[in-house]
Amino acid sequence: MTLTHSKTAQHAMSVDVEDYFQVWALSSKISRAQWDDYPLRVEANIDRILALFEKTNTKATFFTLSWIAERCPEMMRAIVAGGHEIGSHGVEHVKVFDQTKEEFRIDAGAAKAKLEDICGVPVTGYRAAGFSIDERTPWAFEVLAELGYDYSSSLHPIEHDHYNMPDAPRFRHKPVADSHFSEIPVATVDAYGKRVSCAGGGWFRASPYQWSKHLLNKFVKEDGGPAVFYFHPWEIDAGQPKVEGLSAKSRLRHYINLNKMENKLHRLLNDFSWGRIDEVCLPNDKQVAA
Ligand SMILES: [Zn+2]
Repeated sequence: MTLTHSKTAQHAMSVDVEDYFQVWALSSKISRAQWDDYPLRVEANIDRILALFEKTNTKATFFTLSWIAERCPEMMRAIVAGGHEIGSHGVEHVKVFDQTKEEFRIDAGAAKAKLEDICGVPVTGYRAAGFSIDERTPWAFEVLAELGYDYSSSLHPIEHDHYNMPDAPRFRHKPVADSHFSEIPVATVDAYGKRVSCAGGGWFRASPYQWSKHLLNKFVKEDGGPAVFYFHPWEIDAGQPKVEGLSAKSRLRHYINLNKMENKLHRLLNDFSWGRIDEVCLPNDKQVAA
């Protein structure tokens, strides 16, 4: 069956739009002040992603740094023209738990305004850099709701060295009292006595495709769905400059299987049906809004 519109899609695909030099694993070697010294590779990677999505009838949500959108307005308009959703990934990838409440309000508000200005569409979804909303930031969802966001997809409820919310709800919930605002966590599954991620990113890149497919099928069988999946443009970019002097862990995390990622994604996009987060996860809200 060919799916032509994401309203019929079963799961939600998302892309966190940042360039390779903005990733946390490389931040010990490349500071924010140096970003403008690095030629952007994100536009060429997004071109390939848009072509892949078109070939597989996939729609997706692109959570974009406004730092990137300002430098690549044509790319942003191409994403919108492809029928995809634009979401906010903040201004310049500062983790939420590294900001005060007021700093966060300014950052998340400025990113939304800038993205809406450049893209000409409403931006109602937010994803925290590095899934950095946790018990240190109990005000985060409330601030997002006040700023006019409808949802966030910022929880990845597993044990992890950067983010750690293993007991957070695994599915869409409403964390702000008297508000329609939703948090929609990325996909996890309880497998073999442990909660594991089946949401994409480094796990998907490092694992054999059949393992990822098995976990997603398990998720579908046990939980129904929708699953929220994510990846980054730099993850399909095997030609990106190698940054020297990283720890073994950071090196592995960033560079493993970059050359296999596009092929794996192609299989994933064919094996499951994928749409935008707003249309797949909030269909009734959309009808009310319309
Ligand atoms: Zn990010």
